[in-house]
This record gives sequence, structure tokens and C-alpha cells, in this order.
Amino acid sequence: MAIKEYAKEMIASNQVFRDIAEQKETLWINDKYLPFEMVDGVCQLVVNDEDIADAERRLQKFAPYIRKCFPETVPDGGLIESPLKDIPEMKKALEETYDAEIPGRLLLKMDSHLAIAGSVKARGGIYEVLKHAEDLALQEGMITEDDNYERFADDDMKEFFGRYTVQVGSTGNLGLSIGIMSAFLGFKVKVHMSADARQWKKDMLRSKGVEVIEYDDDYSAAVLEGRRQSDLDPSSYFVDDEYSVPLFLGYAVAARRLLGQFDEKGITVDEDHPLIVYIPCGVGGAPGGVCYGLKRLFGDNVHVFFCEPTLFPSVLLGMASDRHNEVNVSDFGLTGMSAADGLACASPSGFVTRIDRNLLSGDFTVRDAILFDYMRMLKATEDVFIEPSSCAAFIAPVNIMKYDAGKAYLEKHGLDAEKLAASTQICWATGGRLVPDEIWDKYMNTYL
Ligand SMILES: *Cc1c(COP(=O)(O)O)cnc(C)c1O
Repeated sequence: MAIKEYAKEMIASNQVFRDIAEQKETLWINDKYLPFEMVDGVCQLVVNDEDIADAERRLQKFAPYIRKCFPETVPDGGLIESPLKDIPEMKKALEETYDAEIPGRLLLKMDSHLAIAGSVKARGGIYEVLKHAEDLALQEGMITEDDNYERFADDDMKEFFGRYTVQVGSTGNLGLSIGIMSAFLGFKVKVHMSADARQWKKDMLRSKGVEVIEYDDDYSAAVLEGRRQSDLDPSSYFVDDEYSVPLFLGYAVAARRLLGQFDEKGITVDEDHPLIVYIPCGVGGAPGGVCYGLKRLFGDNVHVFFCEPTLFPSVLLGMASDRHNEVNVSDFGLTGMSAADGLACASPSGFVTRIDRNLLSGDFTVRDAILFDYMRMLKATEDVFIEPSSCAAFIAPVNIMKYDAGKAYLEKHGLDAEKLAASTQICWATGGRLVPDEIWDKYMNTYL
């Protein structure tokens, strides 16, 4: 694949882009990172605190419905929320195995185990489907604002939604989340799956009555075709991972929910107790929304890094080139399949690369092979299983201080040894709970 001119220039001028073109692991520090107060005003023009609070209220309103339909959510009162877990044994194993020093407290945010969809997509995906269902039901007089939303489980509601279609393009997990929730409400559902998508995810969706359309092409192509087909049908709604604001809001709510968990665990976040968060990244929607929510809450006291496969650093390239969605990893000569199927997005969300352009601290790339090692290590040390894509986050605490650029970032932002020792580092686990046992065995025995 020929390398594009703009990419050649970037490669010639900067080691990070040489590393990327050579499929080496690297760390890109965001050249346009800014103090939060300088960005706050502009960001609020696009997504403000009230938008996020509104999403939070809507999820609360739907809680009686969710609780009724998905008994697994009863302990959280019908909210779809995940544990925050200390992982001291994993931390020790990472330090010993990779000769790393990981200061402070290391935790795992277990969105891998979220109810219904078993991945971070249960946040944005389910939120967007619920909002769409509410919009239709209000518009057609099926409900009023004051109704108890348990009503959404009624048979006439299901019949009503059966007149409408929901479509989405997906590498797998977004399809699961949109597919499961939409089918449950009664919608007709079409999921457009890229070539990277796992067979078991397609099978699971079909078993729930979802129409799965397979493409022998990448994620962007599946989205393009899905969007085109949906646009032709007035009764169809397309969940657009590359542009969707509702998806983004569903993810952003995660930050506020963390506050209670920090309280329980005695975690303080302030200037002397920084929070550092690492999130696996595909098209950017999920990590982008979580990052945005975190920055709005904690400002300069939180530092967010994304983690992408060496073959698919699409958000990194979209931001670093300032070409946003107008990049494709193939512009840098990167082609091929990734074992990190949840992160295999060749072009990023232009919405996220723009709104988080001054908020993201940086982006790590990670080789497929090591994801399986991290996965086995987490299982052995903490008895937690998360899927390979989800393990991308561990590269960051292991490597941040091994890169000169990482050390320079920490120094520049006053994160000295003392502050790091008082810091909280969170690896965001993004998927895994729905992986069938036989696939899980296969993953455990995969050595790349
Ligand atoms: C979707 C997904 C991500 C990243 O989300 P994007 O919105 O694509 O950036 C990370 N991990 C897993 C397991 C996912 O399914």
C-alpha cells in the first residue's frame, strides 16, 4: 500500500510516526494538550454539563424498565454500572515481568462486565437506543414524560417499535449492545459487521433475532454501507459511531458514576492526588466520551491516555495530523487484521478527534501479541477475565515512564515522584463478559 504524501512528511519529521509506519509500539504525546480552563468554554458549546446531566437523568428514568427486563441490574437499581477493582497482584506481576515501576494505586474499571452487553458499549449504545425509543414513543403519543418507564416493557410498546428499524455498523461489541437492546424493545435490527468481527458475536446476535450483514471489508466500509441503507428507509434509525452525540453522552456519564466509587474506596483526586486513566480505543467514541466526562469533572487533575493497536492507531493519526476523520491507517502503509477486534478501526470519529483534541494527554500503541499475555496475567493474578482488546490499557502503566516523551509529560505537568506515589491509575477494561467459554479457552491458548 502506497504511503500518502502527508504521511511521508509526518514520518520524515517525527520518530513517533516512523515507529507507527514500522508497526512499532510507541507513545504519542498530544502536542495540542491545553489546561482545561482554556478549552472549557469552546467544549461547552458542543457538549455541556447540562447535556451530560440530562443523559444521566434519562438513564435514571429508564432504570425501572431495565431492572424489570434485566434482573442482573437489580443490585444497581436498574442502572448499568460496573465495579472499580483494586488489582495489586496484577500490578506486582506487571512490574516484575516487564521490569516496570508503577507508582500509586492501580485499579481496573470493569466495564468488561457491564450488564446486558458485556462491554463499554453498554453505556453509549444502550443509552442511544433508549433515547431513540423515548423520542419515538413521545412523538407518537405512546407515552408521556410523566409515565413510569416500566411501560416500555408492555406488549403494545413492542408492537409499536416493531414498525421501526435500528441499524448500526460494528466490529462486534457495538452491534451486540445496540442489537440486544433494540431487539428487546421490539425494533427490527440490522447490524453491519466488518471483516474483523468475531463469529460468536454474529451468532449471538442472530440468536436474538437480529439481522447480521457481513462485509469482507473494514469497519469504515461497514458503517458507510449501513448508513446508506438506513438513509433509504424513513422508518430506520442509524446509530452512527463516527458522529453520534447521544452515544458520546452515554459514555460521558461514566465519569459522574465514578465519584461514588471513589468515595467508597477513599480515593481523592486533586492537585496532589492525580488521576491517570488509560482506555483502549477503536473509533474513539467510547474512550472519547469517557475522557470528556472525566475532564469536565476533574479538569487538570486527570490525565487520560488512549491505547490503540499498532495496526490501527486511527485516533492518534486523526489528531496528530489534524485531518480528523480524513485519515486511514493505510495512509501510513498499515494494513492487516488485528486480534484486538474491538479496536480495529481504520479511520477515527471526526467528532471525537475534534472535541478531545486539547483534552487527551496522549496515545499508546500496543502489539497484538502482548494483549494475550496481559490477559493470562490478569486471570492468574486477579481471577478476572477480559477480552484481548480490553487488555490494551495495561501497556500504558507499564511503559509510560520508559518513554522519554512520557517522562517529559509527567515532568511538565508537575507529576513528580511524590505525586505519582499518591496517584490513582485506572486501566479501563472495555469488554469480555459475554465471551463464550470455548472462545475464552482459545484466547487463553493463543500465543502470537
Ligand atoms: C468498542 C470497544 C472499544 C473502543 O471503543 P471505540 O468507541 O471504538 O473507540 C474498546 N474495547 C472494546 C472491547 C470495545 O468493544
